Amino acid sequence: MRVGLGYDIHRLVKGRRLYLGGIEIPFNKGLLGHSDGDVVLHAVSDALLGAIGGGDIGEYFPNTASEYRGMRSEEILARVFRMVKEKNLYVENLDITLIAEEPKISPYKEKVKENISRILKISIDNINLKATTNEGVGLIGKAQAIACFAVVSLKGVRD
Ligand code: MG
Repeated sequence: MRVGLGYDIHRLVKGRRLYLGGIEIPFNKGLLGHSDGDVVLHAVSDALLGAIGGGDIGEYFPNTASEYRGMRSEEILARVFRMVKEKNLYVENLDITLIAEEPKISPYKEKVKENISRILKISIDNINLKATTNEGVGLIGKAQAIACFAVVSLKGVRD
């Protein structure tokens, strides 16, 4: 079995759409980033890269490359997942902790899990999504940023 950890944080700004786990969530601000700024999919992608010893998403999708500007993070995760499959590994389980003061994530949790289960081709039962606030502390607590942690375990494909 292999384990990987991913972390990401992006600033919340006006004039951007908010994507979390590939789902557009109605809110008056969105995450600033070179891509769509989806902290959930970035943390999951980095967790997968961690588990395969594959570095980090910045190495594959540098924020200085114009070809990746405005890129949907679903495409980043799909490309990283292909690297996992090439190593004959599959996702055993995925645990996500999203840290956001606003908006309320609970109405979208199932949609986010469904979307990630579709991309990673695993049962929704093997994905856990936790959402917490930052208790008003710091930039996240002031709703000026959203952060996410993800831990993934991979197993080898059985013959
Ligand atoms: Mg990011």
